[in-house]
Amino acid sequence: MTENAICSYDIGGSKIVCARVAWDLSLVETGREATCSADFAGFCEQILRLADQSGCAGPLALSIAGVIHPESGIIHAANIPAVNGRRLALELSALSGRAVHVINDANAFALAEAHCGVARGHDVVFAAILGTGLGGALVLNQRIVTGAGGTAGEWGHGPLPVVSAGLTNRVPGAASLPQLQCGCGQTGCVETLTGARGLERLHLHLSGTTADSRQILSQWHQGAGAASDTVAVFVDILGGALAQVINIIDPSVVPLGGGLAGDAALVAALNGEVNRRRLGAAGRGAARAGGSDLLIAAVEGGERGLIGAALFARQAQANAG
Ligand SMILES: [Zn+2]
Repeated sequence: MTENAICSYDIGGSKIVCARVAWDLSLVETGREATCSADFAGFCEQILRLADQSGCAGPLALSIAGVIHPESGIIHAANIPAVNGRRLALELSALSGRAVHVINDANAFALAEAHCGVARGHDVVFAAILGTGLGGALVLNQRIVTGAGGTAGEWGHGPLPVVSAGLTNRVPGAASLPQLQCGCGQTGCVETLTGARGLERLHLHLSGTTADSRQILSQWHQGAGAASDTVAVFVDILGGALAQVINIIDPSVVPLGGGLAGDAALVAALNGEVNRRRLGAAGRGAARAGGSDLLIAAVEGGERGLIGAALFARQAQANAG
């Protein structure tokens, strides 16, 4: 067994990846299986078995798709019912006899990007996940900001911005976007019409046709009129929501994760929209050589959650020591 290593997990609703992460962040994947998401005892047994399998005797570090309350440690994870409402770190620690650290998956992504990704060397980092839905995280001076309830950086759950006048004149339906129910319990959230599923809902509303997000983006790349209208409205509302967060936090870089961040043309369009709405954009452009873009797609790879969780555990262990 390796003492000087962290047993790190990337836990989603459908699968768990486990890895042994050394103190220098070099990583060896040691397990990958379907998440035992329905029952807590089975979930814990799975975590402990994967720890044994990793050959690592150090702390457990879990990146998980859920909100963790910073004081109580109670986790809210809609996609993983087994752990929903549990004090996961405390209970796993009692079962394993090890230190256990649990971090939200967007926070793990952001921490990894700030340490060794596209945001390396930056002190103020806002990371945005453009996946099925939206996620986000705030890292200041290489430390995650959790906020009072663990939701800092979650930017998808406020009202949709008003669509720009030029677009409402050009695209029928853009002036009256539907107020849809959001998973958070509110209606009309930014997330309901952005992210990959939101793009599909927006396209259905504006064009009356059903297509998945990849098809819509592909049609847009080919210059199709209906998809171009949809993406124009999408960039307007998503860029507007992003610019609002950016104007509050004033990060020096915004790493983008999630499937939509893999579309370079979409990222370029969002950069254009954000720059148009960003306070002091002209001065910043002059100050930087070449006026580099604020939004930067993270390098593809599934190890961000594993690295971010290990970093979080490393910081917690250093504080405890
Ligand atoms: Zn919401």
